[in-house]
Amino acid sequence: MKAAVFKEKGRFAIEEIPTPEPGPGEVLCRVRYCGICGTDLHNYSFGITSPGSVLGHEWCGTIVQLGEGVKGFSSGERVMLYKHPGTPEPPPRINPRALYSAPARRGAYAEYTLATASSLIRVPDEISDPAATCTEPLVAGIHAVRLGNIKISDTVAFIGAGPIALFMIQRVRQAGARAVYVSEISAVRAAKAAELGADRVFNPLKEDFISEIVRLTGGRGPDIVYECAAAKNTLNQACQLVARNGRITCLAVYQEPITIEPLDWYMMQPEIKFTTNGDSTPFDWEIAVELLRQKKTNVETVISDIVPLVDIQEVFQKLLKPATNKMLRVLVEP
Ligand SMILES: [Zn+2]
Repeated sequence: MKAAVFKEKGRFAIEEIPTPEPGPGEVLCRVRYCGICGTDLHNYSFGITSPGSVLGHEWCGTIVQLGEGVKGFSSGERVMLYKHPGTPEPPPRINPRALYSAPARRGAYAEYTLATASSLIRVPDEISDPAATCTEPLVAGIHAVRLGNIKISDTVAFIGAGPIALFMIQRVRQAGARAVYVSEISAVRAAKAAELGADRVFNPLKEDFISEIVRLTGGRGPDIVYECAAAKNTLNQACQLVARNGRITCLAVYQEPITIEPLDWYMMQPEIKFTTNGDSTPFDWEIAVELLRQKKTNVETVISDIVPLVDIQEVFQKLLKPATNKMLRVLVEP
């Protein structure tokens, strides 16, 4: 089968590799689409994953072969990955570096992928293949929205409007946010954020968005800030922006150290929570599938490109420059 094999930091090679055989309890699937996740970009650009790995976990596909002892699934069914392969229930303490130092994985930037049957769920008929690939990032967004404890009439700001934030903007609107503000450097993402419910979108390179949002919220600042950018100064910005006693949920993943200025924060007493989709719960998954089934969160409009496997290297390079590319969520079609 054809696969995009991770070779070294910043390089994939499209290679013919043996199609895996499902062992006991495993299922072989033909991959229909696989979304590009921020963690894939991190693995690629920082060279975290082991050479020889195949990345890609936000996939949906069709079952082609069942391993010994697999019950409850049959050939031809549409399925998606429920959790990262090999990620069991979280233990009381998690070493985040282990989570983000991705071990060699059987991913889905390939024509076929293997999964343990227990990590698969059936895709309901109402959910299209492209939408199904958005389930995991939607779950991450739902988890972060729930952590922010949003209440009716809260004001909300997003720093960064990548695909997860674009899903979250719709959720906080439905949860009753009075106003939604966004800081985003990419013109395409900014336009999409406005289309999906943001009241005002600012370019932080051109505008003093902190002063403006504080002014628009009557001098208070937003009740909730979602930090979705993980740029050098965005955590400081979130703390400077948030209302006194407000809530900051940081779901962006900082792969490198940043400088913070806590002296600015004391008098504002913000509550800061850090989360990743590794913290998501089965309930978050249940909500995400139901929202997609009932079409209450529009994920398809956030998919900007569907590209063939051979273009994966070029697309990853483009996605690493969010200010200049015109992409939102990208799916690979192996
Ligand atoms: Zn992901």
